[in-house]
Amino acid sequence: MLNYEQQEKWSKIVPNWQSPINIETVHTIEISAKEKILTFDNKYQFINIVNKGNNLQYDGKGKAIIEGRTFDFKQLHFHFPAEHTIDEKSHPMELHFVHQNIIGQIAVVALFVELGEFSEELNSFFQDFPAIESEKEPFSATLGLDSLISSLKSGVYHYLGSLTTPPLVKNVEWWVIEKPITVSAQQLDKLKQRFNHGNAREIQPTNERSVIHYVLV
Ligand SMILES: [Zn+2]
Repeated sequence: MLNYEQQEKWSKIVPNWQSPINIETVHTIEISAKEKILTFDNKYQFINIVNKGNNLQYDGKGKAIIEGRTFDFKQLHFHFPAEHTIDEKSHPMELHFVHQNIIGQIAVVALFVELGEFSEELNSFFQDFPAIESEKEPFSATLGLDSLISSLKSGVYHYLGSLTTPPLVKNVEWWVIEKPITVSAQQLDKLKQRFNHGNAREIQPTNERSVIHYVLV
């Protein structure tokens, strides 16, 4: 029975659902979705770029409809190498599109990046940016995330986790796109040469969490 007299001890009872995780595909719950689970309205408009020292944060505006709920797009950042793994397979990079709804719930759409063809859509984000930490610069770009993700014809993994940087806020919805997008080696190197020391959190225990695999996005 939950003891309301000793609420400080609840943290030992409540599972510590943190991110990132290794997604074990044999243990995912497969659901065939008749309609798209994730849609992204119009194009995301980017307005600022902030140098966070070990990351770049691209602030912008946009709307996502996630399982019928509206979320505002807040910012994009990245991790070298990718933070999530699928059956322990790693990718060179992972993009995090951070969204928040009107009551503060956070939903992150994670997109893996691998080496391959040049990406026209993402080229604005793979540039040399100001190197001064904490500096905010105007940054103007648009991104048609809906067509970009639709073109991958990918499934999506969904689970409940946390932010992967302090304050490690819990109850963050994760939507991990199964198939990676590609960028050229030249594009990847533009960012990687600055962040080659890595900025990925270690894999966290999945514990008793369920991971859903939606087959159609
Ligand atoms: Zn992140």
